[in-house]
Amino acid sequence: MQQLRFGDVTVDRIVEAEGLGFPAEFLLPGSDSAAIREYRDWLEPHFFDPESGRFIQSVHCYVVRSPRHTVLIDTCVGNDKDRPSTRAWNRLDTDFLIRLRDIGVTPADVDYVLCTHLHVDHVGWNTRLLDGRWVPTFANARYLFHRTEFDHWKKNGDYVVDGPGASDGFYEDSVLPVVEAKQADFVADGHTIDDWLTVESWPGHSPGHVCLRLKAGGREAVFAGDLLHHPVQCRHPEWNSRFCWDPALSAANRQRFVERHAETPAVVLAAHFAAPVAGRIAALGGLAQFALL
Ligand SMILES: [Zn+2]
Repeated sequence: MQQLRFGDVTVDRIVEAEGLGFPAEFLLPGSDSAAIREYRDWLEPHFFDPESGRFIQSVHCYVVRSPRHTVLIDTCVGNDKDRPSTRAWNRLDTDFLIRLRDIGVTPADVDYVLCTHLHVDHVGWNTRLLDGRWVPTFANARYLFHRTEFDHWKKNGDYVVDGPGASDGFYEDSVLPVVEAKQADFVADGHTIDDWLTVESWPGHSPGHVCLRLKAGGREAVFAGDLLHHPVQCRHPEWNSRFCWDPALSAANRQRFVERHAETPAVVLAAHFAAPVAGRIAALGGLAQFALL
């Protein structure tokens, strides 16, 4: 994704990992593989690999820079974390921080970190291993957690799903150290950062999942987190991911999200859409689909 500009605000993407992801029927257990192949004109080649039947996916972090602040949205899996349930994420050793520096951001520059929700692939770089201890990676940042989301994970450190995507102790190594360092702020629906960014509650995928809306320079973008895991869900909001906490609420809010944004200029920036990532929701003949910018 090229840098996006919204008035005085820029958006970059730092990729942790990208490529062939989960098989379609694994990620979206209610999906229909024949239907997915029918959408090849807008899913291929960027989002679906017909040969393997696997989705093409990404784990990335968005960097939003306003004239006042540097904000990170979702912090991926992180380095050195024990994640035995998900082989591709176990004890990672990527140059994520160098990629961040390459766009001109050092850890000390980061003012805010927002996790759209507290799943294992959205909190990792909250902390890093220093002298055998997990410490906040971004020493000068306030970390924003939705209160409902934080309270849920405080009580339920272990995720209910077994196998790939399981929690593997993320609360202890990637959330708790931030709280203990007194760098956590607990926010609610409507919380704003600067004049440009607003936290919106979109629960379902997790109890306190949020999106972040950016309005600047007469343009709008919405950081959708995992409300949409894959572009095909624009057409099929009823196809929940296997990681959705409340399937009925998740599907209802996804439907509402698609209806709200269809045929609007709002740029949708989800947490796992592969390159080129940014797009809008179109509604050709009344049928929603994801349309790249
Ligand atoms: Zn995720």
